[in-house]
Amino acid sequence: MLKLFRFSPKHLDRLSFISSLHRSRFISTASSNPVRVAIVGSGPAGFYTASYIQKSVPNAHIDMFESLPVPYGLVRYGVAPDHPEVKNVTNKFESIASHPNFNFYGNVTIGKDLAIYDLQANYHSIVLSYGASEDKKLGIPNESLPNVISARSFVNWYNGHPDFANLPIDLENLNSDTAIIIGAGNVALDVARILLMDIEELQKTDIADHAVKMLKRSKIKHVVIVMRRGPLQVAFTSKELREMLALTDTEFKTDRNILEHHVNSAKDELSKDRAKRRLLDLLLKGIQQDSSGAKTKSWTLKFLSTPTEFLSDGKLCQGLNVEKNEFANDGKLQSTGLFEEIKGGIVLRSIGYESTPIDEGIPFDHRKKIIPNDTGRVIRDGAVVPGLYVAGWIKRGATGVIVSTMFDANETATSLIEDINAGRSMNPLDTELSGFEELEKRLKDEGVQTVSFSDWEKIDKLEKLTGEAMGKSRLKLIDVNEMINTATTK
Ligand code: FAD
Ligand code: NAP
Repeated sequence: MLKLFRFSPKHLDRLSFISSLHRSRFISTASSNPVRVAIVGSGPAGFYTASYIQKSVPNAHIDMFESLPVPYGLVRYGVAPDHPEVKNVTNKFESIASHPNFNFYGNVTIGKDLAIYDLQANYHSIVLSYGASEDKKLGIPNESLPNVISARSFVNWYNGHPDFANLPIDLENLNSDTAIIIGAGNVALDVARILLMDIEELQKTDIADHAVKMLKRSKIKHVVIVMRRGPLQVAFTSKELREMLALTDTEFKTDRNILEHHVNSAKDELSKDRAKRRLLDLLLKGIQQDSSGAKTKSWTLKFLSTPTEFLSDGKLCQGLNVEKNEFANDGKLQSTGLFEEIKGGIVLRSIGYESTPIDEGIPFDHRKKIIPNDTGRVIRDGAVVPGLYVAGWIKRGATGVIVSTMFDANETATSLIEDINAGRSMNPLDTELSGFEELEKRLKDEGVQTVSFSDWEKIDKLEKLTGEAMGKSRLKLIDVNEMINTATTK
């Protein structure tokens, strides 16, 4: 049974209202006082949590804080530009934002412009849904060479994220026409597809203009995807694999012997897992397609290879050294002591995103890279912190698609709603709190220009209009000042 967290004297000094924290009250959600909820982060986790709260707590007033002037998190800056159908989820988010008791405050970073204490003083409940803004490192020699790039940076670059727009990505002046990608998840396939896809098609999407210009000059013709385990352990899914196999003028290569051997040895296991079976059937079919060598481009899936070192000429990375692995009789992966050098002009590390702490007042599990929680309720030292919740990638780690994030947000919202109905919150529910009103003056004094949802709609409109004129679905603004100027123009 979880106990309630008791704040330390440090917290007590800073919060005069704290004595009321452990009082359990049963207040009807129909009370006329607004239940003030702050949500940190405007990705799918934040919006879906808001939606569930709106449906169940009629007097909830939700304020959503976002560090960028624009909403939607990875839907805008992660989802690949050639997947517009995925981005349609923003129609749902727009309808959530149109609720009269919902406010969006863009360009406000919690942990920098406002501390978590500021929110604790002015809200009944806080939901942290700020995602994962870092990436995992391999920790092998020469990882910091300039042409060893994280897939996260590359994705942000082609999607026009303001912090990555000026990344010095050079796909032209390379000493090899091969790009190496480490990791075999869906992000790796997104990156491989963008590198190999027909640029005429790609430029019609909302891909950033600087990326189009560089991709047009790109020397890359071949992509090698390196993974440490075998065919049964690929982390990408069938839909994304199908897109790779359908790339024009592009051959798929892999070690047919390893693929067939692993599939044949796992017949029983595969008969119980239809999705995995379908995926492996696709790989088998892919390798049987035309391999006459007539195609000018290729992508290779290299199994059982653990990166050991980025090859360096002293200035730039020239490729990757890998140690070959095998599965022992007990099914455990083991290294063979055999090595292979893979030559390449650029290496992209795509081994996963990870979250970081944003404020020392919030507990953080540095091993799992998440905020410790029980069904979305934040836990500190084994006790629930009243009124503090997490949702999305910061809650469960950087894994899962938008739909899994929606289910996860539902679980968090259910915990929050249960607590509100039982009178459990950060501040007594019968206390009238001022929410953003109290914080607005401070942000103004500090020169922080907030961006409302209707301000964002001006940016949205301009991006669509300028995109349309160029035959694109949208031309994203990539400069924060330009975003703010557009947002604040009457
Ligand atoms: P995010 O979407 O990352 O949202 C977090 C938000 O918090 C961001 O807007 C961020 O700016 C904001 N923030 C961060 N720190 C602060 C702070 N201190 N203060 C205020 N705001 C802050 N799923 C699919 O279903 N289909 C796909 O095609 C697909 N493609 C993907 C492509 C990539 C490259 C990646 C990485 C993921 C993809 N996903 C896809 C998965 C999907 O994007 C995630 O499941 C989902 O976005 C996670 O939602 P989230 O709200 O937890 O995080
Ligand atoms: P992921 O699916 O977790 O894949 C990470 C890959 O990196 C795996 O192949 C993993 O191999 C490998 N890896 C991890 N640590 C490694 C190490 N130290 N050394 C070598 N390899 C290592 O992560 P992701 O691709 O970043 O995707 C994140 C989430 O977003 C996923 O749930 C994904 O489905 C989702 N997403 C969805 C879409 C889509 O729906 N189109 C697009 C993009 C992303 P092991 O398995 O051996 O650890």
